[in-house]
Amino acid sequence: MAGAKWVYTFGDGKAEGEAGMKNLLGGKGANLAEMSNLGLPVPPGFTITTEVCTYYYDNGKSFPADLDATVKAALAGMAKLTGKTFGDPANPLLVSVRSGARASMPGMMDTVLNLGLNDVTVAAVATASGDARFAWDSYRRFITMYSNVVLDIDHGHFEEALEDYKERKGLHLDTELSADDWKLLVGKYKDIVRKELGKDFPQDPQEQLWGAVGAVFSSWMNARAIKYRELNSIPASWGTAVNVQSMVFGNMGETSATGVAFTRNPSTGENALYGEFLINAQGEDVVAGIRTPQDITEAAKIEAGSDKPSMEKAMPEAYAELCRIYGILEKHYRDMQDMEFTIQEGKLWMLQTRSGKRTAKAALKIAVELAQEGLISESEAVGRIEPGALDQLLHPTIDPKAERRVLTIGLPASPGAAAGEIVFNSDEAEAAKKAGRKVILVRVETSPEDIHGMHAAEGILTTRGGMTSHAAVVARGMGKPCVSGAGQIRVDYAKGTLSVGPTTLKAGDFITIDGSVGQVLLGEVKMQKPELSGEFGILMGWADKVRHLRVRANAETPEDARTARDFGAEGIGLCRTEHMFFDEDRIQPMREMILAGDDKGRRSALAKLLPMQRQDFVSLFTIMQGLPVTIRLLDPPLHEFLPHTEAEIAVVARALGVTAEQLRHRAAELHEFNPMLGFRGCRLAIAYPEIAEMQARAIFEAAVKAAKETGKPVIPEVMVPLVMGVPEFDLVKSRIDAMAEAVKKETGAELSYQVGTMIELPRACLRAQEIAKTAEFFSFGTNDLTQTALGISRDDAGSFLGSYTARGILASDPFITIDRDGVGELVKIGVERGRKSRPDIKLGICGEHGGDPASVGFCHEVGLDYVSCSPFRVPIARLAAAQAALGEVKAKEG
Ligand code: PEP
Ligand code: MG
Repeated sequence: MAGAKWVYTFGDGKAEGEAGMKNLLGGKGANLAEMSNLGLPVPPGFTITTEVCTYYYDNGKSFPADLDATVKAALAGMAKLTGKTFGDPANPLLVSVRSGARASMPGMMDTVLNLGLNDVTVAAVATASGDARFAWDSYRRFITMYSNVVLDIDHGHFEEALEDYKERKGLHLDTELSADDWKLLVGKYKDIVRKELGKDFPQDPQEQLWGAVGAVFSSWMNARAIKYRELNSIPASWGTAVNVQSMVFGNMGETSATGVAFTRNPSTGENALYGEFLINAQGEDVVAGIRTPQDITEAAKIEAGSDKPSMEKAMPEAYAELCRIYGILEKHYRDMQDMEFTIQEGKLWMLQTRSGKRTAKAALKIAVELAQEGLISESEAVGRIEPGALDQLLHPTIDPKAERRVLTIGLPASPGAAAGEIVFNSDEAEAAKKAGRKVILVRVETSPEDIHGMHAAEGILTTRGGMTSHAAVVARGMGKPCVSGAGQIRVDYAKGTLSVGPTTLKAGDFITIDGSVGQVLLGEVKMQKPELSGEFGILMGWADKVRHLRVRANAETPEDARTARDFGAEGIGLCRTEHMFFDEDRIQPMREMILAGDDKGRRSALAKLLPMQRQDFVSLFTIMQGLPVTIRLLDPPLHEFLPHTEAEIAVVARALGVTAEQLRHRAAELHEFNPMLGFRGCRLAIAYPEIAEMQARAIFEAAVKAAKETGKPVIPEVMVPLVMGVPEFDLVKSRIDAMAEAVKKETGAELSYQVGTMIELPRACLRAQEIAKTAEFFSFGTNDLTQTALGISRDDAGSFLGSYTARGILASDPFITIDRDGVGELVKIGVERGRKSRPDIKLGICGEHGGDPASVGFCHEVGLDYVSCSPFRVPIARLAAAQAALGEVKAKEG
């Protein structure tokens, strides 16, 4: 590390860093440098690199020896640019100290403003600004923030002192306090520090600065930052940078302000400046949501029906400057920007810009429109949408026909609708979720400590805070519905109630929130399926142009098949025939078939199943017209189908002509200790060939019928489950082939079909070369393959898998994202060996991994032909497949 450059300066139209240096300077530092280079008004300052953070943690929380001198030099540079000197009693430079990691972690780490103030410099600030009130107010803010962040003194002490003071003086608002009031309070605040800390509040600006820098680095490891990183897959090794910047003040009276703005609407994607600002306020006030902010544009103000003036009207010059700058920034970064700014006595300063977080709906609209505007290419647009985020578009909204009993209205902070029981704190939300209950987290306002509760909740409702408050920003990022600032609601945490006028609801009562319009509704309101925007279709079209993997759906019912087609599925990759018998009125013959003690009983049950199966398959073939449909022979783990209640046993016994007692006995015989590894899959067809024969008959007869009715050829793919080697497969295949011959003869129709197998046991992967001699396709069943390769029961993993992922023993849940090193290796072996015997063998995957973006990437890499996933994940898989193809092209281009 010797000779490393620890500090990068910026200001006055130039910078040592630039936007591409995020890893070293963090997002905020890199973009401050970039904005300086662009000649935009940025208060001068410097960034201490993320390498210092790494050094700090590697060296017992100490700093590199030469850092002090470098920082002093940087401060001297700031003095030149600002005409003020850090620590100078007569002409002091005040600075902000802020964190800034590679990836944005809003509100997770610490910030200190107004640093450099002390008993001496406060007077100089009062003289220079001609505003003693401002100077003392700034000093007390600094003491509060510094004490909280650096000295670890609870800010409640200071708030209490302030409230006591106001009460004694009969004052209500902070704005009513004079310079003398603040001065007195500063004295009290310093007393608090002395009492809590056992020593005085630090007066030396250098000591203050290093205290703050250390605190910001330390905040990288605070509990909420760790949790946030865990949720967002941000490695702890990245570290944070620290930005030290000369202060500009938005709280110097009516010509000063502070605000947050997005170059496009982050909820809808609409191409219009969007944001909020507060006159006479300091940096964090907008984000904290303590005062209700004002709109930036006049149009937004009118739409919101606000009685407070917009920035456009109240500060037209600063507004024009903001518009000029946002145009430059969006063109330069080629993306929607989220900007923070401060106006000090009429002059606008930029404090931050970054690519703005946005809802999936906005992301789509923005990506498509940026491509149409020629700022980015179609492929770039495809690459900009996180496939998993499409989930947000695919989620329910409130049924327009449903009755809306509106309790109150807040801000439409994050779109989509959700219903659940009221809970008032995040731990309860988490516990309820674990217990399988759906909850709406109701808070006065949320803070970063609430992340786990927000994650667990279906939706979030706050009574305070604007559209850029913590709740709003975080919920949008998570894709959860959120209504914020519902000010009519009174929350009583102690009693566990919320009330609006005369209506009182308690924890556990159901409410529904509509985050798209800001409504809070009584009860659990009916939802409807989402409707997708035009941009969705356009982007999916672009994705389809670049992907190589085909995308099919796992579907059994006509409804699922239709949904799958609507979402662009190119066939059915897995029809689990046993799922066709889960319905109350259908499970009966299935149970009869399973529990039959002899051939006769089984054949009579199968005769009942045949017409149902045939009709189901006709529907599927008809809906999927011309597209491939893979039908898997029965694979019922027995425990899922055995009757449990006395009533169920009685019905099955009657149908089989046996007594309840005999049936119970038979059920006991069938009881398995390990049903997932028991009498299931092709084992059923081996022991009772008549089952496979019935199903094959149903498939072929349906194919003939559907082809006749639709005029389109039907080429069914018949799939044998859970084989471990060739003998099983060949035996079952011979039955299927024989049945095909029989149906051909009986109907006189032409019949094309394929017979293939699931590859879902490690042995099948190893024996793939042999199996592929007769199997015409493979479909990797990665649910069972994961279960059998890792020896982890699919049904019992929940109790311990969390400890594995939490400790990093497994990178992620292997039933969600494919375990590349183990299961992935087996798939690769299966692919290679299968292709050796049959180079054109059709290869797919139909485990849950087929809809997981990271696993889809893996499937692309190993060269599968298709992935198959649940219908709602089809668009996600299409996009993930496209991104995998684009990634490969990029990698090749180097
Ligand atoms: C699998 O095992 O991956 C699979 C798709 O089959 P099932 O989940 O029905 O066992
Ligand atoms: Mg399986």
